Amino acid sequence: MIKKKVLITGGAGFVGSHLCERLLKKGYFVYCLDNLVTGKLQNINHLIKQPNFELIQKNINEPINLKVEEIYNLASPASPKHYQLDPVETVKTNVQGVLNLLELSKRYNSKILQASTSEIYGDPLEHPQNETYWGNVNPIGPRSCYDEGKRCAETLFFDFHRQHKLRIKVMRIFNTYGPRMNLDDGRVVSNFIIQAINNENITIYGDGTHTRSFCFVDDLINGMISFFDCDDNFTGPVNVGNPEEYSILELARKIIDLTNSKSKIVFLKLPDDDPKKRKPNISLAKAKFNWEPTTNLESGLIKTIQYFSKILK
Ligand code: UDP
Repeated sequence: MIKKKVLITGGAGFVGSHLCERLLKKGYFVYCLDNLVTGKLQNINHLIKQPNFELIQKNINEPINLKVEEIYNLASPASPKHYQLDPVETVKTNVQGVLNLLELSKRYNSKILQASTSEIYGDPLEHPQNETYWGNVNPIGPRSCYDEGKRCAETLFFDFHRQHKLRIKVMRIFNTYGPRMNLDDGRVVSNFIIQAINNENITIYGDGTHTRSFCFVDDLINGMISFFDCDDNFTGPVNVGNPEEYSILELARKIIDLTNSKSKIVFLKLPDDDPKKRKPNISLAKAKFNWEPTTNLESGLIKTIQYFSKILK
């Protein structure tokens, strides 16, 4: 039987490597394209010897010619620390890189998914965030390279859809955590877990009252594949995330508890443009492809803590 070929860009990253694994299990031939800037070979080492897996070490900013039926675009640094290291490159990846992938999809009529983000909503004035909300984004701040880059990527997806009839899927991913998060990502879940395991100070930026909603990576991958495979007429944008909202202080206390840590909490300056709250309305995902997360924060954190404990040993 001829296998369906799928291209996963950013396939060696935290979310990408889980997606590679799942689509291999579903019987696909997986091309994993990654320039390994934030992606890591360790994330895909266990897949490299599989006959249906091929790693292509490349930047999506360069033209790509590869005949595939399906494309998932997850290529972009995603944590504030990493996307702000080279902001011009971040914009390029989300504009020039996305254009290259859309051209590829046009050439071979491949269905294409964009891993968009809750950052589309900026520091939201509407809560929880519905897909109909246009957002409150600073166009010239330190987060703009990512936020505006991702917004432009959505625009390009919808223009290619209207102009060239491409089959598109635009998914807005909210904060996600789990095994294979980068140790040095600077993200709140990875930072707090590493600090707690090492009994170091837990660094809360601001007073800890600001909120996020955390989705376990397995739930996210279920949502991503279900969305991709549902009716082509449903393009999104659609929110995928966990609607349980926690303050950053609550998260810190939970992680200290679960790790039996001796860490103390310290309060540092809140970075510029840091959104004060975030929580997805996921009723559209539920209605269109019957998805909702099933992992609660505590059980997801336990699995993530186990992963980090092993890595840090
Ligand atoms: N944060 C924090 N301490 C850290 C890392 C992050 O208090 O060591 C805060 C950060 O300021 C933000 C929230 O946690 O308000 C989530 O940050 P993250 O970088 O994980 O994701 P994003 O800001 O993109 O939602």
